[in-house]
Amino acid sequence: MDAQQPTSIRDVVENGLCIGCGLCEALAPDRWVMRMNSEGRLRPAPLGSEEPDADASVLAACPGVIAEAEPRGHKSDPIWGSYMHMHEAWAGEANIRFRAATGGVLTALGAHLLKSGRAQFILHCAADPDHPMRTRWVMSETAQDVASRAGSRYGPSDTLAGLEVALARGERFAIIAKPCDAGAVRARAKYDPRLDELLVVVLVMVCGGASDLGKSQAVLDELGVKEDDLTLFRYRGHGNPGPTRIETKDGRSFEKTYQEMWADEAGWRIQTRCKLCPDAIGEAADVAAADIWPDANPEGDDEGFNGVITRTPEGQALVEAAIAAGDLVKGADHSPRDYDHFQPHQVRKKRALAARLRGLTHAGRPVYAHTGLRLDELDTHDPEEEAGAEQRARSGRFDDKVPSL
Ligand SMILES: Cc1cc2nc3c(=O)[nH]c(=O)nc-3n(C[C@H](O)[C@H](O)[C@H](O)COP(=O)(O)OP(=O)(O)OC[C@H]3O[C@@H](n4cnc5c(N)ncnc54)[C@H](O)[C@@H]3O)c2cc1C
Ligand code: SF4
Ligand code: SF4
Repeated sequence: MDAQQPTSIRDVVENGLCIGCGLCEALAPDRWVMRMNSEGRLRPAPLGSEEPDADASVLAACPGVIAEAEPRGHKSDPIWGSYMHMHEAWAGEANIRFRAATGGVLTALGAHLLKSGRAQFILHCAADPDHPMRTRWVMSETAQDVASRAGSRYGPSDTLAGLEVALARGERFAIIAKPCDAGAVRARAKYDPRLDELLVVVLVMVCGGASDLGKSQAVLDELGVKEDDLTLFRYRGHGNPGPTRIETKDGRSFEKTYQEMWADEAGWRIQTRCKLCPDAIGEAADVAAADIWPDANPEGDDEGFNGVITRTPEGQALVEAAIAAGDLVKGADHSPRDYDHFQPHQVRKKRALAARLRGLTHAGRPVYAHTGLRLDELDTHDPEEEAGAEQRARSGRFDDKVPSL
């Protein structure tokens, strides 16, 4: 059976291939708006009758339909893809390093772009001030703005819902987002020349997957806190990894360690597109920043040390300029085999994906098309992966819902 791609936005969502990037809302704001569905996932809701033909431009860049990366680095690794350099780094500014998710590399690079005038603003995301458990897209104009929005948000995020607003400004900008968002922006750039002109770089985190909002809600339920009472929901940071911290309007505060938060894998509520993610390692980006704990497990809190993978000459030039300016500090060099050790889950996933996608095709489900991501070369032909994916697809485990307004 040949693999088929989804033919409409509804098809993408209902088959579990939507990650809620927000591109539908950016490109077709008269037809789609991002809403939380009943499963706690940000998904496009139709504003009127659905017209798949009118959505062709969205589908041409949607991560549920297409995934690709153009190799532009000077080196290459079968697992970790095309790259320029891999090394340890952290923010030069102590406050950024402390507040950030890991060592503050993404924030420091964003701040450097603004301070140096290479970019006028950064499109990224931050806690919604009115609903701090939720995340919304933002544009940061100053280094202080970017620093105030440092930190990983583990729930749904739709950064690309801000893409058209960003482009309409007609100013040079950078994006900090997830690897799937980077793929969507690169695919979109083939049809929108403003991206080549205005988008300076795309910076991403290496990504183990985005939970639905139920993961965060479960934390509140356990603590007996109502979402309306929140003033702060910080997933990590203030140390590396730092605690998950919750504060309420009546002055209560709660903390959970990273291990307490993530010990039970069954409760992670990772979205389906993440389990099928062909590029969680940022191959479509200019720079990817990662955690570098042995076997992906923090041994306790430390000052913050990122791994940095520069993917393109532009990404390499940015990192070098930030180091020269003192905005970034460079540590030891890394190799792809170091990354196998830091991120064993990414290695397993990359090798398993071709079998998972075949399982979906056997179940009669559409899958995304992929190029430049080496899924077929890395295929382990694991019959259990294939049968497991087919069984989950047939049982409805991958099904998802289009929200209503
Ligand atoms: C959902 C998720 C899963 C992750 N899984 C892994 C993993 O498996 N392995 C690994 O090495 N690292 C993982 N990380 C990355 C890690 O937590 C750090 O983000 C990364 O090391 C960068 O650290 P930093 O200190 O440079 O980031 P910071 O300087 O704190 O900057 C973070 C930037 O990312 C943006 N951002 C935060 N959350 C999101 C989001 N959900 N969507 C889009 N943009 C966001 C912020 O706006 C900010 O600009 C994950 C992060 C997230 C959000
Ligand atoms: S992945 Fe993005 S572009 Fe595709 S349907 Fe979901 S929100 Fe829209
Ligand atoms: S695992 Fe992949 S699909 Fe999921 S949020 Fe991360 S980059 Fe996007």
